[in-house]
Amino acid sequence: MLSTMQDVPLLISRILTHGSRVHGTSQVTTWTGEGEPHRRSFAGIGERAAQLAHALRDELGVTDNDRVATLMWNNAEHVEAYFAIPSMGAVLHTLNLRLPPEQLVWIVNHAADKVVVVNGSLLPLLAPLLDKLPTLEHIVVSGPGDRSVLAGASARVHEYEELIADRPRTYDWPELDERTAASMCYTSGTTGDPKGVVYSHRSIYLHSMQVNMTQSMGLTDQDTSLVVVPQFHVNAWGLPHATFMTGVNLLMPDRFLQPAPLAEMIEGEKPTHAAAVPTIWQGLLAELTAKPRDVSSLVQVTIGGSACPPSLMKAFDELGMRVCHAWGMTETSPLGTVARPPAHAVGTEDEFAYRLTQGRFPASVEARLTGPGGERLPWDGESAGELEVRGPWIAGAYYNGPDAEPLRPADKFSEDGWLKTGDVGTISADGFLTLTDRAKDVIKSGGEWISSVELENALMSHPDVAEAAVVAVPDEKWGERPLATVVLKEGSTADFETLRAFLASDACRIAKWQLPERWSIVEAVPKTSVGKFDKKVLRRRYAEGDLD
Ligand code: ADP
Repeated sequence: MLSTMQDVPLLISRILTHGSRVHGTSQVTTWTGEGEPHRRSFAGIGERAAQLAHALRDELGVTDNDRVATLMWNNAEHVEAYFAIPSMGAVLHTLNLRLPPEQLVWIVNHAADKVVVVNGSLLPLLAPLLDKLPTLEHIVVSGPGDRSVLAGASARVHEYEELIADRPRTYDWPELDERTAASMCYTSGTTGDPKGVVYSHRSIYLHSMQVNMTQSMGLTDQDTSLVVVPQFHVNAWGLPHATFMTGVNLLMPDRFLQPAPLAEMIEGEKPTHAAAVPTIWQGLLAELTAKPRDVSSLVQVTIGGSACPPSLMKAFDELGMRVCHAWGMTETSPLGTVARPPAHAVGTEDEFAYRLTQGRFPASVEARLTGPGGERLPWDGESAGELEVRGPWIAGAYYNGPDAEPLRPADKFSEDGWLKTGDVGTISADGFLTLTDRAKDVIKSGGEWISSVELENALMSHPDVAEAAVVAVPDEKWGERPLATVVLKEGSTADFETLRAFLASDACRIAKWQLPERWSIVEAVPKTSVGKFDKKVLRRRYAEGDLD
């Protein structure tokens, strides 16, 4: 028997309509680097999203399912594109502006993007690639930047503001099937070609509701969220959509992502919440240590994308910025787990340990651990295996062109359709996930596994260490051994012997056989396009003899 409930599709246009009406006075503030930041109300965003949709449809001929790319920083216009493009029935394709040019070309061609909305400051990146982007018919330029680099482009060039001016401020958003493609994001392609994940209206809608739950980010219209995580990185962790549901104000850093302007933004605009990967926060911490600022407004910081080092969590706690650790990936929209400690641990000495785990799964995400032989492992906090997940905002396949069957590679999807995350860890009886490593980063030494993350966290808790990344390197006797690359804090003179002794000491209690015997002091740990330690580059440098 079927229910008697209404079957109303979960659409992004509903989030936009709700946010711009009910929370019309909430604001998107964009940092401009000098002078007053730029402010636009949710009501204004709603009107301009309608204008953009009219322009895309009537002037540029965008129709259902056409891919409209964005090559943009986090700013108000990018939020407008986020809502306008899917709401009209087209597909938003966020391009990662830090990818190597050849990967960008590959991705735009693979998605067959018809239009790109680009920030003027990014034209020097786009212009040299245009010859290799035959599907692009229109380039819409927004914000400051020299347009002359586009001279000779075969695609038509439009000014964002001119294009949307004088168009109707409302749009009769179509009643789409909620499973329609809304936006797409390619994984950063750490191995092989990038893979396209296509989110649906339904998946984004449900994910946004989860982001808003108290057990996740739990923000309200009294909050302002500083969204440092780029809008090209898994929908900025769902924040633009989620905040339009609840009226949370958005503070967008545009291209000013360096520690000093971030500190200035926090002091000046007083956000209550912020979200980014650990490396951003390490940079901010160094900045605040060198030049203290009033950051007292910022009481909640969501950290994810890679493991949050305990030293970072402690330092932020001391500054009054309470860290909430979360895990996810492009394929999981990204919210997978959030580390809110259980009630019984709050205020006890166990609380910190709970907060350091990757966290608990929400009701809509099912999880299981699979051992090397494909066997299911228990949730006992000890059995370590590959994490597999499924749920309404988890990818079930990768994009393979508009008419082709989606790709379901066996190393990414189980036969029964679960996503194989490539992350290795344990789950406790009460559902807390602890990741020990990515499967490809685990160090396999003499038949035993060494967690690179554990060594990194221990090293980064040493007062002289700014950053540390540990990778497996080949070893004749043991198969693999850890190589520790360390960035020392300015003025520090710590040597390897000291650091090794520190790892073995009671402060870290790393077993003797796990201690690295290969060390390298580096100026900076190389980072991926989304700011994570790039271990592939470190392994290559070692193989090429560039590291000790
Ligand atoms: P890429 O795979 O290119 O790095 P993603 O942003 O999709 O792009 O990365 C997802 C991966 O990041 C996860 O599979 C996991 O390995 C890692 N990750 C994300 N959050 C955390 C976290 N809190 N702790 C440890 N690892 C994390």
